[in-house]
Amino acid sequence: MPHSFKALILTEEEGTVRSAISDLTAADLPEGDVLVSVAYSNLNYKDGLAVTGKGRIVRRYPMVPGIDFAGTVEESRSPLWKPGDQVVLTGWEVGEKYWGGFSQKARVRAEWLVPLPNGMTAQQAMAHGTAGFTAMLCVLALEHHGLTPGDDPVIVTGAGGGVGSVAVAILARLGYHVAASTGRGEIHDYLRGLGAAEIVDRETLKPGKPLESERWAGAVDTVGGETLAALLPAMRMEGAVAACGLAGGTTLGTTVFPFILRGVKLLGVNSVLVPLERRRAAWDRLARDVPAATLDRIMRTIPLADVPAMSEEILRGRVRGRVVIDVNA
Ligand code: NDP
Repeated sequence: MPHSFKALILTEEEGTVRSAISDLTAADLPEGDVLVSVAYSNLNYKDGLAVTGKGRIVRRYPMVPGIDFAGTVEESRSPLWKPGDQVVLTGWEVGEKYWGGFSQKARVRAEWLVPLPNGMTAQQAMAHGTAGFTAMLCVLALEHHGLTPGDDPVIVTGAGGGVGSVAVAILARLGYHVAASTGRGEIHDYLRGLGAAEIVDRETLKPGKPLESERWAGAVDTVGGETLAALLPAMRMEGAVAACGLAGGTTLGTTVFPFILRGVKLLGVNSVLVPLERRRAAWDRLARDVPAATLDRIMRTIPLADVPAMSEEILRGRVRGRVVIDVNA
């Protein structure tokens, strides 16, 4: 008998998405040149949308969701990897179009994997996952624009969430004066513990005049909608917003004034189809710029069985920081 393993499977019937933990064998897995024994995955906002069926994330069913995983190569038909190599995967439409990480085993394309960064455990890599990776891509985008710690202050919206928490931690560690915007009073101490120098109530970030007084040199926006529309008029001359999220809305009602009168830059960040070199660079920076003790504050670990309930929670904006999934628990 081939060895069986557990995976969370999503099925769809008449528009209703259901999730169940099932026993699979390697023969059930899709085509790919590398078989990975998964150690940890994690829960991103997008996973929440996929598991609950509330967003059009999954392109075909049945689907093993989970846009990230970290583990050990078990079999490889590619010269890029050999059994025993420790690897990380984020994005590439895994968990959307291709079977993903909410499983004890995954078979994927060799070129989607990156090595586990030096000094990082698989659990720590998944404490980052797509959220941490995206936070770092936002920071890199701001740095590429020319932002430096002397150009304070910077603001992070949706600060209590996964991307937001990591972004606050990275920017504070780099020496920026970080304002953390949140709607949750009970997490102010948590955000200060990550290095936030000030807290901004998200209710105060509502669109107003086409140009407000110049406040922010840089911003990482995970919320979108009215929040992003409120940030743009309050950016300083030549300031930049790295926009990656839609937790608060997908439309953007604004004017051209911040762009044409202040030279404000709106930098879009997409973490899914990032070329390999930039992926490695971002992971190396995460290993360097986020100490293990900070990750411990940000993450908690749950078993695979808790994923459906936690998916509802993340969509309600009630998850703090990052949720790592121990697929073998
Ligand atoms: P989380 O759910 O962990 O965090 C989102 C945070 O946004 C919440 O914790 C909350 O923060 C805030 N928020 C939630 N709902 C609202 C609302 N209605 N209005 C204002 N603020 C709200 O999600 P992630 O950190 O995983 O992802 C954040 C966003 O970034 C998501 O939209 C996700 O889809 C997107 N994303 C995009 C990527 C890309 O490649 N572009 C990659 C990864 C994520 P608080 O309680 O502190 O106010």
